[in-house]
Amino acid sequence: MSFEKIGLIKPILSAINELGYIEPTPIQDRTIGLVLAKKDIFATAQTGTGKTAAFLLPIIQRLRDAKPLSPKAVRAVIMTPTRELAIQIEAEGKKYAKYMDVSFSLLVGGKSLEAQEKQLKNGIDILIATPGRLREHIINKSIDLKFLEIFVVDEADRMLDMGFVTDIRLIHAELPKRHQTLLFSATYTDKVRKLSRLVLKKPEFIETARQNKTVDAINQIIYLVDADRKAKLLSFLIGSKNYQQVLVFTRTKKSADILVEELILDGLKAEVIHGDKTLAQRNKTLTKFKKKEIRVLVATDIASRGIDIEQLPQVINYELPSVAEDYIHRIGRTGRAGHDGEAITLLDINEKEHMKTIERLIHVKIPRVEVEGFEVDITKKAANDDIKPNRPKKTVKKAVAPKTADKKKAPTQKKRKTTKRSPR
Ligand code: ADP
Ligand code: MG
Repeated sequence: MSFEKIGLIKPILSAINELGYIEPTPIQDRTIGLVLAKKDIFATAQTGTGKTAAFLLPIIQRLRDAKPLSPKAVRAVIMTPTRELAIQIEAEGKKYAKYMDVSFSLLVGGKSLEAQEKQLKNGIDILIATPGRLREHIINKSIDLKFLEIFVVDEADRMLDMGFVTDIRLIHAELPKRHQTLLFSATYTDKVRKLSRLVLKKPEFIETARQNKTVDAINQIIYLVDADRKAKLLSFLIGSKNYQQVLVFTRTKKSADILVEELILDGLKAEVIHGDKTLAQRNKTLTKFKKKEIRVLVATDIASRGIDIEQLPQVINYELPSVAEDYIHRIGRTGRAGHDGEAITLLDINEKEHMKTIERLIHVKIPRVEVEGFEVDITKKAANDDIKPNRPKKTVKKAVAPKTADKKKAPTQKKRKTTKRSPR
């Protein structure tokens, strides 16, 4: 279907036309009409499939179609896990509402509460907020949500992973009885399903095909390498293949910091974003990366969540993510909206098993190669295999093994079950 046939009005059609959107993505195709019809929605679709526009476009239209219940009302709240994502959603919303009179406002950490209080007094059409900060304003009684019309939970899976469930409950309790709720998630997990039961009323379920174009358009490859030579291999790849804009993922903040230092020593312009950086620092770094003033951006999973860099050619997994689903989120940063992308994983022997879990999740067996000069050390490999049973990783795997284990006693079992369910 076309955007026009879905029922979007002229000023929105003009704005998206200017952005070069020719037709709706599958998730947009199925969501927009239902949102316009004021339905509650529970939508799951992979990263990079256009979920943001799927809720923003119809929300903008709905707010225009009806009068606010009060001049001071906050009319729509979009909850999102990170500040970066909030900023990005606001920017996107402003583009879509270019020809309309819709106000946007951000409520995220890193800005003064007082300034935000002032801004909340004037009435806001679309408020984009992180759960922690929104909760603070509710507790301070500096926000009134009783005239709210639409409530959006974006990246629900990640928000729950980050432990925001009590915040979301508290916020939800503040909402008026009659409102529309839209819940979006990249993955379908037990936690998300539980939350959906709490916040949604007679929802429409939307799930787009798992193996969508975006992931198909990504060439995935694994370079086998010894753990202690990963940094060198990374520098070598960037240099020899002449990568100009590379996003590199690490599992922890610490390894991100260490890696950046090594890359800089190798003469590469590299910077890092992770949870310890301030909002201003992260924004500055991201802008520089987008402008290609830095060549390598090293990021942890949480910091990178949702950041959108158009046509990013390469994504490199320097370390595998702890949560298998995050692999999909990571590689979703490349090959966006139909562009080809390349996802490279530097895999050491200790990550072998975890890689297999990820491959089962994505239903793809990724080719493995070695790079000349960086071949895996056979002696080390044997030594590693020998000591492996005592390593934490192996222990985790053992804990998973009994299939009927009590969920409470074996959280790893739960995780694994989720992983298996996702490929439905
Ligand atoms: P998700 O939230 O599902 O991860 P995003 O909403 O961030 O995905 O969208 C990914 C990218 O696709 C963005 O750059 C966005 O501008 C672009 N995009 C969204 N919808 C369309 C469309 N209909 N046509 C072309 N590009 C689109
Ligand atoms: Mg999104």
